[in-house]
Amino acid sequence: MIAHDISTAVSHLGRLIEDAQTIVPFTGAGISTECGIPDFRSPGGVWAKNQPIPFDEFLARREMRDESWRRRFAMEEKFGAAKPGRGHRALASLYRVGKVPALITQNIDNLHQASGVPSQDVVELHGNTTYALCLECEKRFDLAWVRDKFESAGQHAPECACGGFIKTATVSFGQSMPVQAMARAEDLARRCDLFLAVGSSLVVWPAAGFPLMAKRNGAALVIINREPTEFDDIADLVIRNDIGDTLGPFITH
Ligand SMILES: [Zn+2]
Repeated sequence: MIAHDISTAVSHLGRLIEDAQTIVPFTGAGISTECGIPDFRSPGGVWAKNQPIPFDEFLARREMRDESWRRRFAMEEKFGAAKPGRGHRALASLYRVGKVPALITQNIDNLHQASGVPSQDVVELHGNTTYALCLECEKRFDLAWVRDKFESAGQHAPECACGGFIKTATVSFGQSMPVQAMARAEDLARRCDLFLAVGSSLVVWPAAGFPLMAKRNGAALVIINREPTEFDDIADLVIRNDIGDTLGPFITH
């Protein structure tokens, strides 16, 4: 059913949360828009103007690696200043009381961790843009270090001491999905009794398969998203109100 107003939505959601033993939140760009992080996929969004750089081009061409870092640093003002929103804080509250074993996100902005959920319990399907990794030896790099090297080399991407390319810890187009994260997300979706899809249009596969998986295993499915999704028909509750307004009442700290 679709909640027809915010107070109905909040009270219905409150009952479902109270009844649930194991809640698995699955979040997308919509939860971070109130934090100033743009939705890359939205019409007029970053990707509408700048086609994302596919992984094979990143590997093949130095100019693409330089360009990829140039774009990343251009976004730093937004990513660097972003603080968790009401949605993040509400989900962190549910984590803290033990109802949420871990949460699954399509976001790369690190805001669930910033809201207090330990990083080992944030399952990132598309990686994380707030740090970088060597593609060969997996050594971790701070963005500040990369930026320093990048600028001092005349805007050229630095490489690892092992000779590997350094890239943000995100999953690019054409790069394989992280196997461990996918397996953990599947497991979480299968064993929850309430699946909360928050701020995702649920169209990006394979990630979009999780709500279906949860539903098939008997979980209640709640979809909180501004726009309709193709899973609204099978959801137990659909909330099209603002995410911060909807989840705000569930913040307990
Ligand atoms: Zn390396």
